[in-house]
Amino acid sequence: MPELPEVETIKEDLRELVVGSEIEWAEVLAPSLVEQPSAEEFASRLEGVRITGARRRAKHLIVELGSRDSLVYQLKIGGQLLLVPPVEKPETALMLALDLEGDRRLLLRDETGFTRARLLDADELQERLSSLGPEPLEEEFDAGYLQWAIGSRRAQIKPLLLDQKVVSGIGNIYADEILYDARLHPRRKANTLSEDEWEALHAAIRSNLAAGVEHRGTTVRLYKDVLDRPGEHQNYLRVFEKHGRPCPGCRGEVVREQVSGRPTHFCPACQREDSPGGGGGLESLW
Ligand SMILES: [Zn+2]
Repeated sequence: MPELPEVETIKEDLRELVVGSEIEWAEVLAPSLVEQPSAEEFASRLEGVRITGARRRAKHLIVELGSRDSLVYQLKIGGQLLLVPPVEKPETALMLALDLEGDRRLLLRDETGFTRARLLDADELQERLSSLGPEPLEEEFDAGYLQWAIGSRRAQIKPLLLDQKVVSGIGNIYADEILYDARLHPRRKANTLSEDEWEALHAAIRSNLAAGVEHRGTTVRLYKDVLDRPGEHQNYLRVFEKHGRPCPGCRGEVVREQVSGRPTHFCPACQREDSPGGGGGLESLW
């Protein structure tokens, strides 16, 4: 499903192509998609309203409106925002259509039906976003924060990276790539990481997400941007879904195992679970 770099790419597309346009007509084709308010109220509060901005918080795409409401999309796997001319034929996966001035339509399609949309006022938006952890590409996010937030936890490092309360925007693809770069086994307990390993993890979070943004996202299956173009970061992945193939670092074999219920890809030689680099020594102190 779309992670930080994919949602960031869509947000930039909306800023370029859609912000400033008026929504002339809104049609909810799949009422189950609308979580808040009712589908009828949702459509009527969107009609005749101008789109004034677009931003991203974690994996939430936030469309700011002249009415001071925010249209918040959570794109799940198979979810896509697509800008098309109105002549385009609606498809079966179509869930929401916004007719924009200038004869364009902003469609929400969802192959799997998990995507959700909400229309929130300022207080509801703040409430909705209040439990999210920091944005990993922002200045305030540093190695010290990570260590402070999770450094005493006995939990495995991978599920902690996926926890949106710890840090925002990381999902299964980037988590595997980040841990590979930091040379951390996905099952390492957070409280066994050394100072150097926290630094390496922080640097890997930043570099992987920044590269994903630069490459306009990762398309392994369904992700596409607003103009239906795939991303390019899939060409730069080292371990995600590379099981059975050689590790680009040591030529050993990348493996796939379940970690905390998620398919996880790593190189057992480069990412040692017993951490001879110092984590093992520290562990005995805890
Ligand atoms: Zn390796």
